[in-house]
Amino acid sequence: MVAAVYDLHCHSNASDGVLAPEEVVARAARQGVTHLALTDHDTVAGLEAAHAAARQHAIELIDGVELSVSWQRRTFHVVGLWIDRHAPDLSAGLARMQQARAVRGVAIGERLERAGLRGALAGAQAVAGAAELTRAHYARWMVEHGWVAGYEEAFRRYLRRGRSGYVDGEWVEMSEGVEWIRRAGGVAVLAHPLGYDLTGAWLRRTLEAFVAAGGEGIEVSCGTAPTPRQVEQLGGWCRRFNLAASVGSDFHGPGHGARELGGAPPLPADLPAIWHIEQAQRAPIPAAE
Ligand code: MN
Ligand code: MN
Ligand code: MN
Repeated sequence: MVAAVYDLHCHSNASDGVLAPEEVVARAARQGVTHLALTDHDTVAGLEAAHAAARQHAIELIDGVELSVSWQRRTFHVVGLWIDRHAPDLSAGLARMQQARAVRGVAIGERLERAGLRGALAGAQAVAGAAELTRAHYARWMVEHGWVAGYEEAFRRYLRRGRSGYVDGEWVEMSEGVEWIRRAGGVAVLAHPLGYDLTGAWLRRTLEAFVAAGGEGIEVSCGTAPTPRQVEQLGGWCRRFNLAASVGSDFHGPGHGARELGGAPPLPADLPAIWHIEQAQRAPIPAAE
């Protein structure tokens, strides 16, 4: 038997990824991933195409989404896994989020234009194609047009909080976002917990609120926390809060970000993996054939 390789966090061009959903699935299969969750930002639009590809490549596709949520005026990302992508509350919520992203996307463009980056809105829209605009699309446009040397610089100089192109998102409250996921039969996982610039005290408070809201896991091995020291640290939080551990590359495309599909380091063996929680909670899912 081939060992299972899980990657429970990645993006397609249904949000800010570069590859089409079917390309993401094909690439994951080539990288040896056996269980893949496609988790686009605030949309499930890529999942249908991904399922068709998953059947072709004999890879198990888990329906997922990455929600942007607000808590204490900060933005966090919550990954929903094993969701029913047609669940009514989730669908209505995602429609609302897409609308908020559309408004924010235009506002970012207007701010960048005022800061002197001519053609930002139209340029980013061309990069985004059918997807709702995100900061990543603006960053890619800036790189392509030589406004900045690289993706990171685009965020540092223009797109992060406090910079000329930053616009607050009107995201769902964390408790409500977790509720959407749970009502859709899914499991809520706090994404990249070390990616929010939190002190230990704030991370503890955040995890308390997340657990109170019904969150069941955190990413322990993820694209933004690749070092053994960080995996160790996140494992500690996992044990302390009795949470399940998840693993995801946060892949956005070849050459975008540090991690390849399936490339996040393995979870420490003593931690309860999120897929064990999932399997214990429901009837076995028939194998996709
Ligand atoms: Mn992204
Ligand atoms: Mn994220
Ligand atoms: Mn992500």
